[in-house]
Amino acid sequence: MDLAPLIRNIPDFPKPGIQFKDITTLLLDPPAFRHIVDTWAERYAAKNVDAIVGVDARGFIFGAALAYKMGLPFVPARKKGKLPGETISEDFALEYGTDTVEVHIDALNEGQRVVIIDDLLATGGTVAAVARLMQKLKVEVVEAAFVVELPPLKGREKLQPLEVHTLVEFMVE
Ligand code: AMP
Repeated sequence: MDLAPLIRNIPDFPKPGIQFKDITTLLLDPPAFRHIVDTWAERYAAKNVDAIVGVDARGFIFGAALAYKMGLPFVPARKKGKLPGETISEDFALEYGTDTVEVHIDALNEGQRVVIIDDLLATGGTVAAVARLMQKLKVEVVEAAFVVELPPLKGREKLQPLEVHTLVEFMVE
């Protein structure tokens, strides 16, 4: 299924020069949403996955649906200060400044296997930080899966040696 026509491009959002890939138009198409979740459910069915980790905020949409479909726990990786319990955190670089991602320290156990889900892979900084959180918890990342990849931003290289799976590519920065 070609998902590209369902993803809206908004130029210069949230700032000049950014081609924002808006997945809310894809979410209006139930067969497309189902196709994404079913593709990943099939892909990870035999991989002994213990939990799905979704990245704040659009990773929650796809990650939670996948967790529901697979009958697995869903673990939110949230922006700083949102999780109420004891957390571990990792900083990552943005174009200007840094951001922080956190997970509850008791959400996963050592030796468990997870899939990380986000809507879009750009530079890879966000999911690299989530992968470091998993490393701290001694949790194995089976793969990181994204709906959209922007190959010119080289996120896939940044995430090495993590396995990466994406469903649609746009050759924009
Ligand atoms: P990065 O850490 O650079 O891979 O950025 C990934 C995160 O930023 C994802 O959670 C995306 O939702 C968001 N993001 C980055 N660039 C874009 C873009 N061009 N369009 C839509 N979302 C983006």
